[in-house]
Amino acid sequence: MTGAFDRAWQISLWRIACLFVVALVIGILLDAIGLTLFAASVAVLAYGLWRMRQLYRWLAGRSRRAPVDDDGIWGATYRLLARRQRSEIARKRRLLRLLRAFRTTAAALPDATVVLADDGAILWFNTAATRLLGLSYPHDVGGHFSNLVRSPRVTAWLDTDGSENLLDIPAPTDDAIRLGLRLIPYAEGQRLLVARDMSKLMQLEQVRRDFVANVSHELRTPLTVVHGYLDLIEPDQLPELEPILAELRGQSRRMTQIVEDLLTLSRLEAQDSLPQERVAMGAMLRTLKREADALSQGRHTVTVESSTDVDVLGSTKELHSAFSNLVTNAVRYTPAGGQIRIQWLARGHEPVFAVSDTGQGIAPAHLPRITERFYRVSTSRSRDSGGTGLGLSIVKHVLQLHQARLTIDSEVGVGSTFSCVFGVERALEPAAIGDEA
Ligand code: ADP
Repeated sequence: MTGAFDRAWQISLWRIACLFVVALVIGILLDAIGLTLFAASVAVLAYGLWRMRQLYRWLAGRSRRAPVDDDGIWGATYRLLARRQRSEIARKRRLLRLLRAFRTTAAALPDATVVLADDGAILWFNTAATRLLGLSYPHDVGGHFSNLVRSPRVTAWLDTDGSENLLDIPAPTDDAIRLGLRLIPYAEGQRLLVARDMSKLMQLEQVRRDFVANVSHELRTPLTVVHGYLDLIEPDQLPELEPILAELRGQSRRMTQIVEDLLTLSRLEAQDSLPQERVAMGAMLRTLKREADALSQGRHTVTVESSTDVDVLGSTKELHSAFSNLVTNAVRYTPAGGQIRIQWLARGHEPVFAVSDTGQGIAPAHLPRITERFYRVSTSRSRDSGGTGLGLSIVKHVLQLHQARLTIDSEVGVGSTFSCVFGVERALEPAAIGDEA
């Protein structure tokens, strides 16, 4: 490349040199050297300017072929620029083909895909977004997503960072279609919203829930009968069978508790919302203390600390069941002589119910799965303690229905703290005297 340019450069220099030699000869012949040399300089300058003008017009125009075809520097410059232009155009074509292929793929995706600007304006969407979200092209491009897909849950979710997926949203085009929404940070100032048709999965989930609820319900009556008859047999009626009967009573009580807990979970899962009432925390803490003392039977020191007088908006019955599960666990998983602390406090403006114990603690590896149904750290020890393996699942569900979260801090051999953190909007200022239940 440089070699070709050097050659062109030499040719041009030779041409200018020849021009000046000719001008010099003519100048000598006409006895006007100064004039002819001046004329030659003006010619060189004018030629350069004319070429510049030609170059500008060529660059500004659409032609891709070099207009000059000589061996000098101008020809070389034109050829270089023309080559660059051609490769640039080829690159653009390749990119365009790639972009078209990407768009065709994105358009063919079964999931609705929408590119959103930071303020929620729609920048682009695929064909599935028309079918699942009811967006129409080009009318809805530039529109605000929340205004087009009118759902308070979606609007509230878009205001968050969207790190948690939004499940079970009815499609705006058809209520029977249930959508799962994901929000993915995309380019700077843009987010990718992916909506997937989860109707089949939701149906399966419903079948699973119905199955568990029905089985639990069907087991309830026979268990009540077994339990009832076992209770009817007095210990002195069959003294030789008493150890067996005691075991039978214990196991049937455990099965009844499992069935009751499964029914509670099914009921909680079927609920979208709970009663919104003032949950009087003073009375709640007193009840929990009584229950803990009754279960511990003096084996632990149970203390209650209340450093805030706010109440909570929610369901007294369900929150009592959740808090009571945490207190019961603390008693069950703390050896005799341990301490159990029940706290009601405000962290910032967020009300927090916490139960701390000095018990066996939970290793970090178990924490991510600890709220799953029937998940236990040590199966035998948990069974011996009389648990069903469903307590923390119930706690998680109740808290979800209150838009609250469960946090667990635990150290093996030191103890655990289970905290239920409520949103500010759930905090109720103390009731006027006489209002408290
Ligand atoms: P369970 O009925 O077995 O207690 P949960 O769902 O209430 O079921 O708890 C799940 C598991 O978490 C328990 O089996 C136990 O291993 C562990 N766990 C719960 N609470 C505590 C606690 N306070 N200290 C130590 N381990 C706990």
